Amino acid sequence: MPLPKAITAYTLAEATSVVAQLRQQVRQYAQAYYTKDAPLVEDAVYDDLYQQLQQLEAAFPTLITSDSPTQQVGGTVLAGFSKVTHQEPMLSMGDVFSFGELAQFDERMTKAITRPTEYNVELKIDGLAISLRYQAGKLVLGSTRGDGAVGEDVTANLRTIKSIPQELAEPIDLEVRGECYMPKRSFEALNAERDRNGEAVFANPRNAAAGSLRQLDTATTAKRQLDTFIYTIVDAQRYGISTQADALKQLRQWGFHVNPEAIVARELTQIHAFIEKYQSQRDELPYGIDGVVLKINQLALQAELGNTVKVPRWEIAYKFPPEEAQTILQAIEWTVGRTGVVTPTAVMDPVTLAGTTVARATLHNVDMLREKDVRIGDTVLIHKAGDIIPEVSQVVLSKRPATAEPYLVPTTCPSCGSKLIHLADEVALRCVNPMCPAQVKEGLTHFASRNAMDISGLGPKVIAQLYDRHLIKDVADLYRLTATELAQLDKFKEKSINNLLAAIQRSKQNSADKLLFGLGIRNVGAKAATLLLAHFGSIPALMQADPAEVVAIKTIGQTIGDSLTAYFANDQVQELIRELTAAGVNLNYLGRLTEAQDNFFKNKKVVLTGKLVHYTRSELTQKLSDLGAQVVGSVSAKTDYLIAGADAGSKLTKAQQLQVPVLTEDAAQQYLNEVK
Ligand code: NAD
Repeated sequence: MPLPKAITAYTLAEATSVVAQLRQQVRQYAQAYYTKDAPLVEDAVYDDLYQQLQQLEAAFPTLITSDSPTQQVGGTVLAGFSKVTHQEPMLSMGDVFSFGELAQFDERMTKAITRPTEYNVELKIDGLAISLRYQAGKLVLGSTRGDGAVGEDVTANLRTIKSIPQELAEPIDLEVRGECYMPKRSFEALNAERDRNGEAVFANPRNAAAGSLRQLDTATTAKRQLDTFIYTIVDAQRYGISTQADALKQLRQWGFHVNPEAIVARELTQIHAFIEKYQSQRDELPYGIDGVVLKINQLALQAELGNTVKVPRWEIAYKFPPEEAQTILQAIEWTVGRTGVVTPTAVMDPVTLAGTTVARATLHNVDMLREKDVRIGDTVLIHKAGDIIPEVSQVVLSKRPATAEPYLVPTTCPSCGSKLIHLADEVALRCVNPMCPAQVKEGLTHFASRNAMDISGLGPKVIAQLYDRHLIKDVADLYRLTATELAQLDKFKEKSINNLLAAIQRSKQNSADKLLFGLGIRNVGAKAATLLLAHFGSIPALMQADPAEVVAIKTIGQTIGDSLTAYFANDQVQELIRELTAAGVNLNYLGRLTEAQDNFFKNKKVVLTGKLVHYTRSELTQKLSDLGAQVVGSVSAKTDYLIAGADAGSKLTKAQQLQVPVLTEDAAQQYLNEVK
């Protein structure tokens, strides 16, 4: 969307005020995107505002300040990660949105280098930038871009990615950069799992990759199946390489994963053809791309052209337009999820979008619905966020029927009629009635689902019939169902009745972690359920456990601990567990108990400070957590040990004041080495 009026019509005072508003908005969006990996708006909306800001700053250069988002690389360092200062800054990239702008870039380049330009043309992978440092051929440090100057140390997490070589065939010192991304298949599977667990889904593969790499728990990253494409050798000329195309060949030879779809091109027509080819084929690629990158091929010329404070002058991204379609919104449907979150879905006239027919699209939450001012009868633009989930991007106001009324957001639950509430810090509307039929049905469906009790034949439609006919009201009732009762259901004959009864019987023998997950306790996902039961051995033992012991289990933490305490304190829950026991449902964990062996750090609260020599901060955190220690951020009277590296400051002073034992890094290493 262009600025509301021609740039020449702005006075300095007006421009000052609009620039301030735009900066505030861009900062707010960038903060949600880079820090929380949860964008508030689509990229195209952000890109529009950013361009408006750029245009005004170009017309009124006195308004440019060094803290403007146009002068800074977006991104931050999350708490809990050690900081890595990049030896060479990790910059952002200029972007263009049309062939016209691309031609202007080419003209600039041709003028600047006074000889025919040659570009290496690559796909713009939709992930996040990473840097990998090797010493004598061994991977020693991996980091994110952060704010361009300082990134996050994510070495331990990057080590879980199979395509990153831990050791090169040659013992060289090297720094390479590239993209860490989440393949579409993993993205879809992850979002489906998060949806089942009642967790917020990621908006696109890029945010999913960033959220998965920036995890304090390495095991979580490992599960997320990230991949990489490496495209830059820092200081490549040191290795006798003179072009970007040769750099890609060398990277491949060193064993890095390099994207195969790249060409060297001199003519814009060739570049246009490359762009058009991948714009139309992007759906078929197994990873997300959001454009094409042109890089001056000669590295010596790149060095000559240099960088601005934010972007290299010698490269540009051509961003693909979002794939969009127009259709008419016929209704807004509200669905109540298992945890009571009520979400709006647009029901539209079917339309083809990126190769599939779409008739429903997410409107995310009430705030987004209000912001977009969607009304019944409106013509809406829809697109696929990150190519996957159809989303309503905006209303085509010029096509709004005169009769369209502002949409009234429901104030009561569409299922049970209870008053809906907005919890603090949440954009979601919630129904908090635990007896709400929609929630109960979703909860029962979750109980029967594959990762939970895995009762085949018991899907949402059968559950709905059983519930609506008052044959079940909670999960214990499933174990009391009889053949006569099942015979009341649509299309249920002898065979399907026997199959379902057998599946219900079989589920009684499941390991109790499946049951614990199936109960749908807030914040207790499948992984947490297994960790908890591998530690306590059975649901009754977990119910009687000391809350401090629960919280001390690696990756469990206070939120899950509090949820469990609140859940098991409920009389109805205790009665439910009694009924399940009486029905013969197994409450014991049948997997291997994974008690950390006894060791110096087991169950101890440990704080790290100062510069470490033997480990990175995240490596040491991981090692300690693996031994059953809880690594926390600040020193208190409850801290068992402070591990202090060189130049330790206030944490060391506080530990000494509180008489918390202090270990040197060498001493900590000795204790770690003692554990087999
Ligand atoms: P960018 O992602 O547009 O481009 C720079 C990045 O491209 C590099 O850091 C690198 O990681 C990546 N890249 C992928 N393939 C590459 C290749 N072959 N060669 C070189 N680099 C490659 O820029 P940015 O500063 O990281 O992010 C800005 C963009 O992020 C915006 O244009 C917007 O789309 C999005 N954003 C969206 C929101 C939102 O609220 N939706 C907020 C902030 C930013």
